[in-house]
Amino acid sequence: MDAHTQSSFIDAIEDARPYFCVLFEKSVVGMAVIGTDQRILDANPAFCRLLGYSRDRLLQTTWATLTPAEDQGHDITLFEQLVSGRTNEVVADKRFVRFDRSLAQVRTRMSAICDGAGVVTNLVVQVDDFSDSARKQSESLIRLQAGALNNSINGIAISDATQPDFPLVYVNPAFEKITGYSSAESIGRNCRFLQGEDRNQPDRNEVREALEHGRAVKATLRNYRKDGSMFWNRFQIAPVQDQEGQTTHFVGIINDITERKVADDYLKLVSRVFLHADESIFITDPQGSIIEVNPAFSRTTGYSREEVLGRNPRILQSGRHDQAFFAELWKNVLNQGHWSGEIWNRRKNGEIYPDKLTISVVRNDEGETLSYVCLSSDISVLKAQQSELELMALHDALTGLPNRALLNDRLTMALAEVRRSGGKMAVCFIDLDDFKPVNDTYGHETGDLLLIEAAQRMTTILRATDTVARLGGDEFILILSEIHSEKEFLGMLSRIMDAIARPYTLGEITVSISASIGVTLYPDDNVDADTLLRHADQAMYLAKEKGRNRFHFFDVVDDRNAHIRSEGRARVEAALEREEFILYYQPKVDLRTGQVVGLEALIRWQHPEEGLLAPGDFLPLIENSDFETRLSEWVIAEALRQMKLWQWEGLDLVVSVNLPARHLHSDGFIPFIVNVLAENAEIPRDRLELEVLETVALWDIPRVTQTMEECRRHGVMFSIDDFGTGYASLAYLRRLPVNTIKIDQSFTRDMLNDPDDLSIVEGVISLAEAFQKQVIAEGVESEDHGTILLYLGCQHAQGFGIARPMAAALIPDWIRSYRPAPAWVQTHAKRLSRKDIVLAFAEVWHRRWVGDLVDLVENRVLGTPEMAPVECRFGEWLNGPGKSNYGHLAEFVEMDHLHQAVHILGNEMVRRHDLGKILEVRAKVPGLIVLRDRLIQALHRLISVI
Ligand code: C2E
Ligand code: CA
Ligand code: CA
Repeated sequence: MDAHTQSSFIDAIEDARPYFCVLFEKSVVGMAVIGTDQRILDANPAFCRLLGYSRDRLLQTTWATLTPAEDQGHDITLFEQLVSGRTNEVVADKRFVRFDRSLAQVRTRMSAICDGAGVVTNLVVQVDDFSDSARKQSESLIRLQAGALNNSINGIAISDATQPDFPLVYVNPAFEKITGYSSAESIGRNCRFLQGEDRNQPDRNEVREALEHGRAVKATLRNYRKDGSMFWNRFQIAPVQDQEGQTTHFVGIINDITERKVADDYLKLVSRVFLHADESIFITDPQGSIIEVNPAFSRTTGYSREEVLGRNPRILQSGRHDQAFFAELWKNVLNQGHWSGEIWNRRKNGEIYPDKLTISVVRNDEGETLSYVCLSSDISVLKAQQSELELMALHDALTGLPNRALLNDRLTMALAEVRRSGGKMAVCFIDLDDFKPVNDTYGHETGDLLLIEAAQRMTTILRATDTVARLGGDEFILILSEIHSEKEFLGMLSRIMDAIARPYTLGEITVSISASIGVTLYPDDNVDADTLLRHADQAMYLAKEKGRNRFHFFDVVDDRNAHIRSEGRARVEAALEREEFILYYQPKVDLRTGQVVGLEALIRWQHPEEGLLAPGDFLPLIENSDFETRLSEWVIAEALRQMKLWQWEGLDLVVSVNLPARHLHSDGFIPFIVNVLAENAEIPRDRLELEVLETVALWDIPRVTQTMEECRRHGVMFSIDDFGTGYASLAYLRRLPVNTIKIDQSFTRDMLNDPDDLSIVEGVISLAEAFQKQVIAEGVESEDHGTILLYLGCQHAQGFGIARPMAAALIPDWIRSYRPAPAWVQTHAKRLSRKDIVLAFAEVWHRRWVGDLVDLVENRVLGTPEMAPVECRFGEWLNGPGKSNYGHLAEFVEMDHLHQAVHILGNEMVRRHDLGKILEVRAKVPGLIVLRDRLIQALHRLISVI
């Protein structure tokens, strides 16, 4: 340093003096200036604090005073080294004697200060502010921190911010535990390796950006453990900076919050259910004060949330239950954790209503009660409906027997049953002889008593499977549904006649009457339910005519069919010449769109005396005759003629015609088709379809296939009729050149009540799909049939529930005005996926169960269906897969409740049935049916939301 720079340096120091003074005074480092004679010339507050001296007192002492006697020799050596200029700075551990005589061990740095000539004038001493204990403290702090890192339950990772890509330099054991990666596997990699392939997560960019700018950041990402499993990582990363403010490291704290996140998501779901549930829910604290209610609660009770928070649910009490009731209720809640039952509550407006209430205790892991959750649904509507319906008479008020409405129902069911079982049944029309004189002579009251007595006598004779109904007046109908032998049946009829003929004691008087009975037997009389009743009626008249007090059988030979039969085939043949045949048409529609996809031509005979005859009345007479083929040719030609007329009207329709086997196999068939098509060339190709019975198609497959293919070349299509009744093997079906498969009407009709039939329908639909055939279901008799078909994926249908066959002239208007049932349109009845198809079965299981129960209480069968709500087929599904797949949906919960209601009613019915209270039980059937239908509606709603 030359003289000039030295002087400017001193000037600079002079200028800086005020700053130095501040530094000296404020520094936390103890500093003292010591003369070469060891006197203390100055000391800063930190130095004074360290030694416990006041400044004044310190300035009166010497270095030697501050040094323990045994260290003095060592100190003097240091002093000499500095003063002599041999060294200008010494760092050494030194012990000081404090004012209170205690010792302080500190590290000192002693520097020599020289004048301009390089002579040492003073020494400056700085003492490290770490006293011994402070150092110990800091060492233990470091140990503690290390311990904390190692034992932390949070994963901690430190990465080097000075290296490219910030490699990890440290991970703690918790990190290893959470991620499954050992420290050795982690160190050197960037933390993002935990994301695996799952790179496009929303929070990711934010994290990257923060790190690039050295900012702290918090985020939650999906990370993957070494075993590939996912966990939600909520982490925070903070930068660590050195003295210069440069980021040297990042410290990341990571948390596996998977459980909490799942719980959070669950909570969100629960709160949605809470808000949107139809049932009212309220929650109380352990003391019974209401802490939360849902909107449904307010709707039901009339109390707003604010009005009830903090209050006791007692405000809902109706006063209809006594202390004992509530004591029992709470005993249950406390012992078993829940109570469920019906309770009368009171709304804010004072109205009392029945509530189905469930109280459950919520406890924490330690078993302490946290709250009570109370779920309730107002069942007043249900109750009202039930009792109203139970009153609604399906029974005759006087005798308690089924009335005409219920009779029709029973007759239809009985008919379906014998069709299925192939058995025999009888319908008997009973008219009492000489009842009118009794009424006229003794008055109506006596007449009524007689009717009641007669009804009871008949009831006691009948078997469980039979039905007796009163049509009105003195007319009764008997359905005997299982006839095994003529002898047994005749015995039964005589017993009934005898029972009716026994004298009646009515108060003071005794009278005797007799009965005339008309009987018809199914399937000898192979007609529908209405016609059976009519035939029985006709036979009863003949019994009366023949002298009363007897029975008469409706004779099929007596009937007009027999009349025709007697005239025979010749009369049918003549009908063709006389142009007495006409074609009716039955629409086939797309259930979803309402579009008419085709018409089936069905022959009718407009008989001059007998009226309109159905094919069953006359086709059997000409079966397998040449005339059958001639008639079939007429049908095809007639259908084409009609199609041409419709074409001119602008109606472009596909019409199908039923083709008898003999015609299909006849030599002239192909030439006939070619010819008739040529005559009607205005009709576009592919508008004529021929329906061939499954059994016929299977006769001679190579030949049928050849014929069909030939026809197809001329634009004729084929469908297989009554599919499911034959035994079509899959391979043949695939090979047959048919466009459409028609599911036989018997399966469709019964699929609502019979799971086996539903399986068949479902199977045929899948089969048709697999072989790329169109499928259409016949026998759609109701809206529910259509809905189930749509669930199963069959959109085309035909049946009385859509339209009965009608005259050609009615078709255009019908097409214009037809609208499909609302339940069938797009949004409601969607096709169920493989996984959900069980819902369609669930419906049928439930229908079947209700049907079985009705059969039981009507004494048609002996076995009781499964009465526990979790063990019936529907209940098994409901409480198992149903609950796990759909349990979170409000519609499901509703269904569950209705199902329980059905079983409660059902059990009640079985109980009364077992007590022999048959009429009481029967009165409950309509209520049961209403519940069934409501449950099915809830199921349909469930389907519409999944
Ligand atoms: P099919 O080919 O199975 O025709 C359908 C029959 O089912 C028709 O009876 C129709 O009225 C009836 N049907 C339609 N929808 C329903 C429903 O929802 N429920 C119930 N229970 N029945 C329904 P139809 O007209 O008495 O014909 C009976 C059978 O006579 C036909 O059965 C067919 O095999 C035959 N047939 C009808 N017309 C002709 C024809 O022109 N030629 C030939 N060869 N046979 C014909
Ligand atoms: Ca047909
Ligand atoms: Ca058919």
